[in-house]
Amino acid sequence: MSTNNNKGSESHNRRKFIKQSGALALTGGVMAKLVQTNLSAAKLPSQVDLLRGHVLQTEGILREGSLIENRREIPIKSRSDVMVCGGGPAGIAAALAAARTGASVQLIEVAGCLGGVWTVGLLTKILDSENKTGIMAEILAELSTRGSDVARQSKGTVYDPEIAKLVLEEMCVQAGVKIRLHTRVVGAVKDAQNRLAVILTESKSGREAWQADRFVDCTGDGDLAAQAGCSFEVGVGSDCKCQPMSMLGLLTGVDPDAIRPYIRETGVEAKKRLLELMEDNGVNPSYRAPTLRHLQGGVYSIMSNHEYGVSAFDADAITEATIRARKEIHETVEGMRKIGGPWKELAVVATAEQIGVREARRIKGRYEISAMDLAKGLRHEDAVCTTQFPIDVHALSSQGDKKIDQAFRNGGMQPYDIPYPALVAAEVDGLLMAGRCISGDFIAHSSYRVTGNSVPMGEAAGLAAAVSIRCRKMPHELSWQEIKSYEA
Ligand SMILES: Cc1cc2nc3c(=O)[nH]c(=O)nc-3n(C[C@H](O)[C@H](O)[C@H](O)COP(=O)(O)OP(=O)(O)OC[C@H]3O[C@@H](n4cnc5c(N)ncnc54)[C@H](O)[C@@H]3O)c2cc1C
Repeated sequence: MSTNNNKGSESHNRRKFIKQSGALALTGGVMAKLVQTNLSAAKLPSQVDLLRGHVLQTEGILREGSLIENRREIPIKSRSDVMVCGGGPAGIAAALAAARTGASVQLIEVAGCLGGVWTVGLLTKILDSENKTGIMAEILAELSTRGSDVARQSKGTVYDPEIAKLVLEEMCVQAGVKIRLHTRVVGAVKDAQNRLAVILTESKSGREAWQADRFVDCTGDGDLAAQAGCSFEVGVGSDCKCQPMSMLGLLTGVDPDAIRPYIRETGVEAKKRLLELMEDNGVNPSYRAPTLRHLQGGVYSIMSNHEYGVSAFDADAITEATIRARKEIHETVEGMRKIGGPWKELAVVATAEQIGVREARRIKGRYEISAMDLAKGLRHEDAVCTTQFPIDVHALSSQGDKKIDQAFRNGGMQPYDIPYPALVAAEVDGLLMAGRCISGDFIAHSSYRVTGNSVPMGEAAGLAAAVSIRCRKMPHELSWQEIKSYEA
């Protein structure tokens, strides 16, 4: 895939994109269909007003148990060719791939940095990435070159989240992606042709509307697709049981040579050793396979927490889980400090601002990846990448019930493909998905969700979004072969 970062060719790509797609004319067309009058008599605050701290007033009628909000006029903040919602591993790749074709790309992210679970979640390991090319390979190269000795030795797969923040921002800025941080996507509006046309956001700038020709849902949780009216599945069974959430943390204060056998990179036995050490000293982590990674010098990451039965759509439950998880990390470290010896100065540097969410919505696409695909090692002509990561369902309850995936594990799993139609929304036009919210079943999701797959999915969705504008077709009207050949 194209990896041209050169500024000159960027503007060349932009000219070519506009010529082929008639991008400006198309956007105007959508606008015309959406414009309505008499929405509200309330005056929109001007840009100057906003900078002075004025806000759009909310009015409404209070009824028992609800507030009926009055209709109000929302300013259109911008129009872009491609809108990417969510700036995690999938979103970054989608934005980069689209921008490199010459499309104008807006990326909206609720956190204060790019990277999703890689940065806000303090994850420090990129799984299933070694067999990938394109943007995944570029990111690994950057993390390796600019990272520590550990990052270099692991070819960028073990990285420092702080370096990742910088690298990802620089890559997106260089590609001309317009980034908006601190902004949450809260709504979506379709036109009369069932085509997604506008999204709504909330931020310190108030409520804003953003127009685009194509949209990519990279929110992980599938927020945008749900807001647009797509159907979806959650978890497994009638009670939608999901994998546990986990908070990660960064630690310091120990000499890597003195605790080497407990470091994950020395082998999978390290987890067992660490659990035994903890238990022998009265520390009982809620995650029974605690993972300690050495990042650089005296800096480590730890994953030793599981929060069971927390819905990704219940802000109260997530808040409680966050507070509980953070407390557990501090108590774990306190407990380990008491072991003494090499552990006596162990300390917490940081806990993740966002608790790690393993699963939420799986949006209905034009193909659903199933457990059978994994069992058969199904290959597709329109594969955007091949997944090698095994089925990995973490215990669904504190009792450690792992039965749910045992039958599938026993059946075996072979490398399988992610086909392009699994990234295309089945029920709303102009919308693609990438990352953990794509179309698949519970078991398949437990395998393809890791970030080494999210990146190539994002790259494919971003490219498809841009190419479909150029071709003046909807993403579902194009095959992956057409999309790839168009790029060439
Ligand atoms: C605890 C834990 C450990 C894991 N371990 C590994 C591992 O070791 N290696 C690995 O490769 N994978 C691992 N995974 C899996 C992997 O992290 C996810 O499946 C992966 O992050 C998917 O990438 P994504 O881009 O789809 O989602 P995310 O990384 O979740 O990114 C989604 C982004 O969208 C933003 N967002 C969400 N909603 C909105 C909204 N409404 N408006 C605006 N922005 C929004 C979020 O802030 C975030 O930045 C782990 C996951 C968890 C939770």
